[in-house]
Amino acid sequence: MKILVAVKRVVDYNVKVRVKSDASGVDIANVKMSMNPFDEIAIEEAVRLREKGFATEVIAVSCGVTQCQETLRTAMAIGADRAILVETAVELQPLAVAKLLKALLDKEQPGLVILGKQAIDDDCNQTGQMLAALAGLPQATFASKVEIAEGKALVTREIDGGSETLSLAMPAVITADLRLNEPRYVTLPNIMKAKKKTMDVFKPEDLGVNVTPRIKTLKVSDPPKRNAGIKVPDVATLVAKLKNEAKVI
Ligand code: AMP
Repeated sequence: MKILVAVKRVVDYNVKVRVKSDASGVDIANVKMSMNPFDEIAIEEAVRLREKGFATEVIAVSCGVTQCQETLRTAMAIGADRAILVETAVELQPLAVAKLLKALLDKEQPGLVILGKQAIDDDCNQTGQMLAALAGLPQATFASKVEIAEGKALVTREIDGGSETLSLAMPAVITADLRLNEPRYVTLPNIMKAKKKTMDVFKPEDLGVNVTPRIKTLKVSDPPKRNAGIKVPDVATLVAKLKNEAKVI
């Protein structure tokens, strides 16, 4: 069985992003970019399933600008066998990515597709769900454990106040949550090996997908600034302020 894993190139989680002066988005010029952390977990899980003998091949897919190649090389250094870049300079929204992944699913016929539960740049949490709907496949989102048994995927999901275990017929779509695993460190020999692995490049047109954005961002703004704190002389003043000024008690 093949496993297809979607990996997105995003602004590194350590970077404090700045809103552009025209409020059209955040400034990503000269900013460190990395693999979306949930996608690292998705790749790690796929590689572990292959190492356990449940999968024969792990294919990493990224959609976006040419530099996504770096993200794909990292995925192959973690252990993906090959990669596919769907190259476009168009700003991709979740529906467009889901359509591209659906086209690749038809081409590659994987037994599992693993995505991150959400991308840390847009926080959409939509692509996996949209892909499952477009492909008519069962889905398990927010996975914290994945097992394969008797041709089914047993997925434990993080839900409010506990967990839930689903049995999915394969092929299926899974999205990875934080506690699914801890991705391995990428070693230098594996980075070198990854350079020799195959990377196919397609354009959205090659896959018959129209990726024109369907949602327009009207405005991006910073969260409101916090006012400076003050010191109060005693508990009575604190209580009075909480009651009369903050009106929280
Ligand atoms: P989102 O719905 O944007 O929060 O993204 C959820 C997941 O979809 C991510 O964690 C990735 O696994 C996948 N994904 C989203 N956008 C892309 C992209 N441009 N290329 C590859 N995978 C993507």
